[in-house]
Amino acid sequence: MEDAAGGPLEKAVEAQAEQRNAALAQLAASAEKRSSVLAENAWGLPVAAGAYHLTARFGEYGLWSSYHTGLDFAAPTGTTIMAIAGGTVTSAGYDGAYGNKTVVTLDDGTEIWYCHQTTINVSVGQSVVSGQPIGTVGSTGHVTGPHVHIEVRPGGGDPVDPYAAMVAHGDTP
Ligand SMILES: [Zn+2]
Repeated sequence: MEDAAGGPLEKAVEAQAEQRNAALAQLAASAEKRSSVLAENAWGLPVAAGAYHLTARFGEYGLWSSYHTGLDFAAPTGTTIMAIAGGTVTSAGYDGAYGNKTVVTLDDGTEIWYCHQTTINVSVGQSVVSGQPIGTVGSTGHVTGPHVHIEVRPGGGDPVDPYAAMVAHGDTP
């Protein structure tokens, strides 16, 4: 057994260090990949932080025909509404009690509804990214004041609690 520089022992140690470095690099690469996937799936707020307050929550009873099926972000008329998550605009227009409504369907089939808008700034078939302005807050439809009513409908089915859905996507309204 040799201990001198360049001897078999030193070579073995070097090889081990190299292996360790490669493993670390691989770990860092996979962590980076994971965080970019998380970033892609991360949701944002429909109205800039500090520019809204939450009024009606999911499941409340009040002026609605049954229970409240969304989460209300109250803000002055004309406040910019941003897409919570990226997807494709699948509906944009007036819809009775919902007023001016935009539906963005995400890649996983989840529909996000934005309601009571003053203006709709996107059209059906358009792709949007999270944070993109898509319209402005208003009070069209069945409302008592200007706000954007957000609904989250997995697979286009029944609505779930948007607050919980947003928290699950790394976003606390
Ligand atoms: Zn509402």
